[in-house]
Amino acid sequence: MSKIISVNAGSSSLKFQLFEMDDETVITSGVIERIGLEDSIFTIKYNGEKDVTTLPIENHKVAVQLLLDTLIKKEIVKDLDEIKGVGHRVVQGGAYFDQSVIIDDDVVAKIDELKSLAPLHNPAHLTGYYAFKEAIPNAGAVAVFDTAFHQTLEPKSYIYPIPYKYYVENKVRKYGAHGTSHFYVSSRCREMMGNPKHSRIIVAHLGAGGSLTAVKDGKSINTSMGFTPLAGIMMGTRSGDVDPSVIDYLIEEVGLDMKEVIKMLNKESGLLGVSGVSSDFRDVQEAAANGNERAQLALDIFFRRVIAYIGRYFIALGGVDAICFTAGIGENSFFARKEICNLLAEALGIEIDDDANVNGKGDRLISTPNSKVKVYVIPTNEELVIARDTKRLLNL
Ligand code: AMP
Repeated sequence: MSKIISVNAGSSSLKFQLFEMDDETVITSGVIERIGLEDSIFTIKYNGEKDVTTLPIENHKVAVQLLLDTLIKKEIVKDLDEIKGVGHRVVQGGAYFDQSVIIDDDVVAKIDELKSLAPLHNPAHLTGYYAFKEAIPNAGAVAVFDTAFHQTLEPKSYIYPIPYKYYVENKVRKYGAHGTSHFYVSSRCREMMGNPKHSRIIVAHLGAGGSLTAVKDGKSINTSMGFTPLAGIMMGTRSGDVDPSVIDYLIEEVGLDMKEVIKMLNKESGLLGVSGVSSDFRDVQEAAANGNERAQLALDIFFRRVIAYIGRYFIALGGVDAICFTAGIGENSFFARKEICNLLAEALGIEIDDDANVNGKGDRLISTPNSKVKVYVIPTNEELVIARDTKRLLNL
């Protein structure tokens, strides 16, 4: 029996899933939110029950200790040494990491060095790493990078057309994100297609954050996020691609400062910014259905920005065999899938099976046999990839 915990430490949160790796089942999962505040929230799911506790949790170290104490108290594990490995999600691996690695001093130093590229995330991941290392020193630790899957991009796809010295001296380039999800979904899609030797897949990861990736023969060849996760399609609160001149114009015309503009693009834009209703797709959809024109406009922009990337990647891949929908919107909204596929239908010859789209569950094909492109829904599972990589690298 080997148990592995998959961890995603954010600046004020810590998500976890504990796996029994013999059969890859999730034993328990949950999240600790609002770490550092008086009213932190600890949510843990076990045996079909969900416990939610509000209590002050000072820092990540206290959060990890609380989690581990709870595992013992609830008899989820008898001894913490049953946890043989901890897999840490790391947002930014830069050009250093094209795959997951065992965390040692050198890896820690590189994750730390890359904090300038992911100031909110990388320091938080290291805080999580140290907290687990102290609490369960016998467990091995592995880092799984959100950027690693996109390290197969070629320079012609990741270099920005700005002076080259900023790439050489300052590492400014496209890194992409959601790589673990794009890897999982595209691999699962290839399996569902019968593992063909050649495959051209577009993965649409549509959640609060969203990105599309073109995957050729299992390798990421382009992806919509860029230097940071602000680029690409329209998201819940992020703008995605906009003309950078907007930044200077707003500073000059409106008197915003640079920090305010960047915050506006990250936190006040996207579905929220255009609709004025919410960053949550469901709320925007409901408002649009009730006649809210700005909510409808937000949806229209969202769908058009998704199909614009699908169009680009169709060309980049030299055609497309399959489009996969995943993440909160992609997995759950038959409406979003239908709208996007309708917009693609004429150009790509896509035909959706309404019953499979609306009533189906889990991994499935939702296109008809006549469709020129296969369309799948594949719920993503980044935690499982993290746990699998941890098991493999630690030889468990
Ligand atoms: P994620 O970041 O992957 O958790 O996705 C969050 C997004 O998924 C939010 O915009 C939600 O509104 C959206 N979402 C979740 N469930 C549904 C649903 N049943 N229908 C439409 N959107 C959904």
